[in-house]
Amino acid sequence: MLSIKDLSKTFVSAGEPVHVLRGVDLDLAAGERVALTGESGSGKSTLLHLIAGLDAADGGTIRLAEVEVTKLSDTGRAQLRRDRIGLVFQQFNLIPSLSVADNLAFQARIAGRHDTAWTKELTERLGLGSLLKRYPEQLSGGQQQRVAIGRALATKPALLLADEPTGNLDEATAEDVLALTRDLVARTGCGFLMVTHSLHLAATLDRHLTLHGGRIA
Ligand code: ADP
Ligand code: MG
Repeated sequence: MLSIKDLSKTFVSAGEPVHVLRGVDLDLAAGERVALTGESGSGKSTLLHLIAGLDAADGGTIRLAEVEVTKLSDTGRAQLRRDRIGLVFQQFNLIPSLSVADNLAFQARIAGRHDTAWTKELTERLGLGSLLKRYPEQLSGGQQQRVAIGRALATKPALLLADEPTGNLDEATAEDVLALTRDLVARTGCGFLMVTHSLHLAATLDRHLTLHGGRIA
């Protein structure tokens, strides 16, 4: 599903190069759920950004299914992100002016992949059926993150990327949200790569990797 070889990324900070990724190798099978931990500043978000095509790598390759992400143009990467990748963030990033129902369908509509039956199933499995007419500000953090996960999966992505998705949730809510996500990822058949600070949550996925010194340790 996802195959990363010798990936490198350097930023220049105050005139000095900062070698954030120094040869990352990572493979993820379809349906596999992998946790990524590492110290603050170790490059976890950078790695997710490169996979999602939000930024370009300096060297190495990323293949997602049949697509070589590292060979795509900016437009190609935007298209890939829209069609094949689901993204979930710590801050939920729902659209405040849209109802839960419209937030859920938003990404899929843009991608031209809106599937009413699938969205309905997601809504039910995420326990959002009674909240469809509400707006994000009327939801708890856990509810908002469930909407964000539904929105990301509504397109049936090949890969779901989550950057500290439970970082703003209390422990019990974090466990609930992650349990739902694990089940839905299995149901979708996509890959799942989640950055987390919680070793406890990391242990509930299929594999746990750590980024250290610019490589997967
Ligand atoms: P993590 O998510 O593991 O905390 P990041 O991937 O956000 O780490 O950042 C890794 C390193 O790269 C940090 O030292 C950060 O300051 C640096 N960095 C990230 N993005 C940029 C950027 N756009 N420009 C310069 N430095 C950056
Ligand atoms: Mg980060």
